[in-house]
Amino acid sequence: MAKLVVKDKKKVLKAIANDLIGTKKRFRVLKELHILYVWRLSDVPEYDDEGRAILATTRKLPPRERDIYGYDVEIKVWRDGWKRKNKNQQRRTMWHELNHIEVEQGENFSINKDDDGRAIFHIKPHDVVITTFEDELKRFGLPGRDVNDATILSRALKKRKKRES
Ligand SMILES: [Zn+2]
Repeated sequence: MAKLVVKDKKKVLKAIANDLIGTKKRFRVLKELHILYVWRLSDVPEYDDEGRAILATTRKLPPRERDIYGYDVEIKVWRDGWKRKNKNQQRRTMWHELNHIEVEQGENFSINKDDDGRAIFHIKPHDVVITTFEDELKRFGLPGRDVNDATILSRALKKRKKRES
């Protein structure tokens, strides 16, 4: 049986991630974590609950694996999907995955550690999620929480229009 997941030996993913970590202030803290970059092979995508192909996932490794293998987080990218993206989309995908990692910091930005000396971090869920029907929106409008999301989306749209003009 063919391998399903392999290490990013050519460091394609790592190079983009390291560039982001090295240049973006928000990601600077990620220097403290050991991130494992892997490719998901297979020409068949995996799908999320909404039936969309999953391009990448970020997973916190369990303590035992962290201790034994020396990696804290795994970023897994579906290789066939990645190849179809342009450079900007690839960079955006990596930005997105890195943004899922939230390191717990104390005073002076020092990283909080657990009793066994492991950095404490969480995988942050998406903070803008809109899954609904057009008909439902037309009939009922936006629920409270989504009004805020809609404001963010309309700002993003303006930004895009500005860029395109
Ligand atoms: Zn995500």
